[in-house]
Amino acid sequence: MNIVVIGSTNIDMIAQVPHLPQAGETVIGGTFSQAYGGKGANQAVAASRMGGQVTFISCVGDDTFGTEVIQHFQKEGIYTDFVFKEKNVATGIALIMVDEKGTNSIAVASGANERLSPQHIDQARQVLEEADIVLLQLEIPLATVIYAIDLAKQMGKKVLLNPAPAQRLPKSLLSKVDILIPNEIEAEMLTGIRFEEEIKIVGENLLSLGVETVIITLGEKGCYVIDSQSARQIPAPQVKAIDTTAAGDVFCGTLAVSLAEQRTLIEAVHFANAAAALSVTKVGAQPSAPCKSEIENFLKGLLAKNQ
Ligand code: AMP
Repeated sequence: MNIVVIGSTNIDMIAQVPHLPQAGETVIGGTFSQAYGGKGANQAVAASRMGGQVTFISCVGDDTFGTEVIQHFQKEGIYTDFVFKEKNVATGIALIMVDEKGTNSIAVASGANERLSPQHIDQARQVLEEADIVLLQLEIPLATVIYAIDLAKQMGKKVLLNPAPAQRLPKSLLSKVDILIPNEIEAEMLTGIRFEEEIKIVGENLLSLGVETVIITLGEKGCYVIDSQSARQIPAPQVKAIDTTAAGDVFCGTLAVSLAEQRTLIEAVHFANAAAALSVTKVGAQPSAPCKSEIENFLKGLLAKNQ
């Protein structure tokens, strides 16, 4: 299963603080931690742990973080020949402050992520030719996303797009997407329809933009899957949620590999729901992504419980 993930790499700098500072205020007395992040990287790691042969196309800076994060990807079994080290730019950094109630405030300095260009995608043509699935998000320049999807479609590849962070997208782009995986906020942004309306209306609106299949993730409620043939909600397994960071990324990475393994869409969604539910029981983005055997054992346990 060859999965090509095209997207962002960030280093998350997390300060747990007594309260979020106001403009001009300094808050003292927090604890600090650092973690690997970026939606592209999170999805690449989740796909690799699920057993996919993952090639990641991304840009990092020519700083120590760039070197460190490439080594980290290699340890995760990800093919890094197309993680480009760009000159005179910093690796993407997310500055995250979390208060005692869990409310956060995040600033992202995209840095090298802004450099990922159509030329970089061209350099990786060979791996795209060999891909079973191409998976993208929106933390890189939109022109690059459009170029990569065009190229992947010309090659007859299956394209999965996680339209995060939320933004409006041209119909010409959406019509080339095989499976669109927005959360509720992203679905609202793409359609302009408030979620209080029936979910079916939101899903049908996305289909009318030319997407083949839409999977709207719904947090603890699981997800809603709609295509021209059918529409259904698939509940997530019930778990004790501790940290939902990157649940959507784990969902997307797992879904990509499950589909490449020739599972049906609904089977693949069950797998992705289980992996994402497992991930919310652990703290952190990439540390919480489960490996394939954990997901399989979890699903077996659920099956036994329901018998
Ligand atoms: P979200 O991005 O919040 O819509 O979540 C993505 C996916 O993660 C969902 O479709 C679920 O599969 C899973 N998920 C998120 N939150 C929970 C939760 N509290 N319990 C179980 N699964 C969850």
